[in-house]
Amino acid sequence: MSLCHPERGNVSCGACCGLFNLKLTTKEFKNLLLERKTEFQKTVNFEIRHTFPIYRKDRETKESNLPKKDEMTYNCPFLGYVDDTKQRIGCMIHPIFTGDPKSQNFSFYGTSICQAYDCKTKESSLSELWEVLFVEIAKDSIEYSFLSADHIFTYAVEKFFAHSNWNVEDMFQTFRLELVELFRLRLVTSIQKNFTSFEINYDAFLTLDSVCSYFESELGMDWIRWKEEWEKKNPNRGEVSGFFDK
Ligand code: SF4
Ligand code: SF4
Repeated sequence: MSLCHPERGNVSCGACCGLFNLKLTTKEFKNLLLERKTEFQKTVNFEIRHTFPIYRKDRETKESNLPKKDEMTYNCPFLGYVDDTKQRIGCMIHPIFTGDPKSQNFSFYGTSICQAYDCKTKESSLSELWEVLFVEIAKDSIEYSFLSADHIFTYAVEKFFAHSNWNVEDMFQTFRLELVELFRLRLVTSIQKNFTSFEINYDAFLTLDSVCSYFESELGMDWIRWKEEWEKKNPNRGEVSGFFDK
């Protein structure tokens, strides 16, 4: 198990399959994932190869009218619910379901890309700690996907604690409540973003000021309020970097 499909909880991530490129509400995302799952179960027979491309074409046609954030980003219709309780999302043509190691070749990206890709947060040495935290925070797989794919925000959080001279244990244990609150504030703005996890981070966050400017631009007044509370609890923290360097 991994950041994509955590061991615990009933959530998983599907952000890099293009889900958030669609301009939908959380309820609409869930309806779409359910629709895909239902249609997939009804029409795809793993023994009959041509049922895969027929499903893909049908879904692409049906979903072509959905509003998109970026017309150039692909939304893979093979992303759907993958458990009986319809809470975890994932690749419905993953080899663990089809028994065919190459079944993802029926998708736009193909097996080699689908299986080789790991996002920045998944690659991070703190991946397991982020996974546990995000499972704790997320109410459902939509929220979990928003949190897992948002690697620039996560990196900025690491740098904030590092520049404030706190270590990894402080961040995940001593300040767990503050950390949870910060990510919950992030979830308020996540819905407007087109997180694919491919986003390039142009800012190395070399100073505390640069991290704070980023948070202010992303969270606005919520950041100002969070920081005021933080400073009351932690006055006069110096700026020492290096604890979390990726
Ligand atoms: S965005 Fe990262 S965590 Fe999410 S499914 Fe892709 S690789 Fe996994
Ligand atoms: S085929 Fe690839 S892009 Fe599509 S859902 Fe599966 S892993 Fe994601």
